[in-house]
Amino acid sequence: MTDTIFGKIARGEVEADIVYEDEDVVAFRDLNPQAPTHLLVIPRKPIRTLSEAGPEDAELLGKLLLAAAKVAEQAGITKGGYRTVINCNAGAGQTVFHLHLHVLGGRALQWPPG
Ligand code: IMP
Repeated sequence: MTDTIFGKIARGEVEADIVYEDEDVVAFRDLNPQAPTHLLVIPRKPIRTLSEAGPEDAELLGKLLLAAAKVAEQAGITKGGYRTVINCNAGAGQTVFHLHLHVLGGRALQWPPG
């Protein structure tokens, strides 16, 4: 398993602007925000990408989604609407190979995404 910057953030070895954490997940602000609110939610477990998650990760994936909804609510973007995104593999734009869920909101979002 290759370590990534997100693994280091999860272990507290690299600073991040953390907005939520518990024993399974960590949420922090994206360094290069694409919307007024742009948060990343990661599992502490270093799963490389969504397609590499297995049945044993089912509960963890549920926790990731619930944490996304929680941080969106905390950020005040629920009513206005927000988007969650998981880029899976380089062709979809994944650059950090530690599973992460983007939470974007605070502005009108277009569909379909590019
Ligand atoms: P991806 O393109 O879906 O893999 O998303 C990776 C995201 O991580 C990008 O939006 C980056 O701006 C963000 N990012 C990369 N390094 C850091 C960091 O150290 N802290 C916070 N966000 C980061």
